[in-house]
Amino acid sequence: MNQNPIPYIDEDLQALQESARRFAEERIKPGFLERDQTRVLDRALLREMGELGFICPELPEEFGGLGMGTVAAGVIHEEIARADLSFSYLNLLASLNGQILSKYGNPEVVGPWLKKLIAGEAICAIALTEPRGGSDAANLRLKIDRDGDFYVINGEKTSISAADQADIAVVFGRTGTPEDKAHGVTALMVPMNTPGITTNRFDCHGQRAIGRGSIFFENVRVPVSHRLGDENKGFVQVMHGFDFSRALIGLQVLAVARVALEETWEYITQREAFGQPLSAFQGVTHPLAQFDTEVEGARLLCYQGLWLKDRGLPHTAEAGMAKWWGPKLAYDVIHQCLLCYGHGGYDRGVMEQRMRDVLGFQIGDGTAQIMKTIIARVRAGRKFVPA
Ligand SMILES: Cc1cc2nc3c(=O)[nH]c(=O)nc-3n(C[C@H](O)[C@H](O)[C@H](O)COP(=O)(O)OP(=O)(O)OC[C@H]3O[C@@H](n4cnc5c(N)ncnc54)[C@H](O)[C@@H]3O)c2cc1C
Repeated sequence: MNQNPIPYIDEDLQALQESARRFAEERIKPGFLERDQTRVLDRALLREMGELGFICPELPEEFGGLGMGTVAAGVIHEEIARADLSFSYLNLLASLNGQILSKYGNPEVVGPWLKKLIAGEAICAIALTEPRGGSDAANLRLKIDRDGDFYVINGEKTSISAADQADIAVVFGRTGTPEDKAHGVTALMVPMNTPGITTNRFDCHGQRAIGRGSIFFENVRVPVSHRLGDENKGFVQVMHGFDFSRALIGLQVLAVARVALEETWEYITQREAFGQPLSAFQGVTHPLAQFDTEVEGARLLCYQGLWLKDRGLPHTAEAGMAKWWGPKLAYDVIHQCLLCYGHGGYDRGVMEQRMRDVLGFQIGDGTAQIMKTIIARVRAGRKFVPA
């Protein structure tokens, strides 16, 4: 493995990286294959991760965080993901939602939930996608009506990660008219045990331990104090949080690709064919060398996105780049690694599970096409790049 330090990770962060790796190797990695079968994320293990300060280290201390930068979140995220991408989904959801709740929520309402989230005592889902489509996210239809001091929610969200395991969800719905598009959307924090909520679970290709499903809302009443940001501004205000999660997703999938590469470099020196180790054949080493090059570059781009965020600088383009390039590259890398193992790679096991796990991120949180449109809008200007 390339252990060379990179400029984004100073000595303190290296120490954090080492302790996160120890925890991930000892506590998370052993259950990697089993969790894909049982499809349950162990809450006790989640609490252990919280106790060690590995969830939302970027959040301010007043909410229970460590007040570290988002680069610290990235460092931990990589280590958890290399042990089990599904488990690291919990870090991703906590960081994405933690940022939204802390920035836009009423502190008295969101404060206790943030503490639970950081302690590993709660899971928060994010519910944006609807059955009629996810890419055109601002065109959502889930209905939110005001009734005195309450909002009443009716409709369906679908393809929501951790839908049936979450304790709360950040839910986007329409308070304005469909013609208002992005300007008629409101975000709410919704406890998942509120009467009127039901969920189901899909039979996913990968990321099976975190899982995806639909959330159905039937006259679900949530106090107005649970609103995140201003009424009708949920989309415009809150969606900026996705730049953070996009850079994290890049690191998450590339961490899986990096561990796959490490194991494969080792394997090809051990396995022999035609009287030589596989590493003697350029047909085996050159594709790996090329992918290793691209992974090193893509990883730096993800950290650049987080580094810019920590300095309050624009990072939307970098986040979009991390989000489309990382998952595509990670999938192609793991595919190549799997082929190096010959028939053994094709059996159920670590390598094929990694390939299934990373594939979901070519769709979840926005496809490559949508990311490229976002990058084009930053570069060319929004008015020159219609949807
Ligand atoms: C593993 C996984 C986890 C997920 N987790 C969540 C979650 O936690 N919360 C949540 O809200 N959603 C989640 N999703 C849903 C995800 O965000 C949507 O699936 C995604 O945004 C795409 O929406 P869609 O599936 O409706 O595809 P569509 O919007 O129907 O798009 C279909 C295809 O058309 C392309 N396309 C659409 N519009 C354009 C355009 N303007 N230009 C070019 N191409 C276009 C798309 O790129 C795609 O290839 C998850 C999905 C997956 C697979």
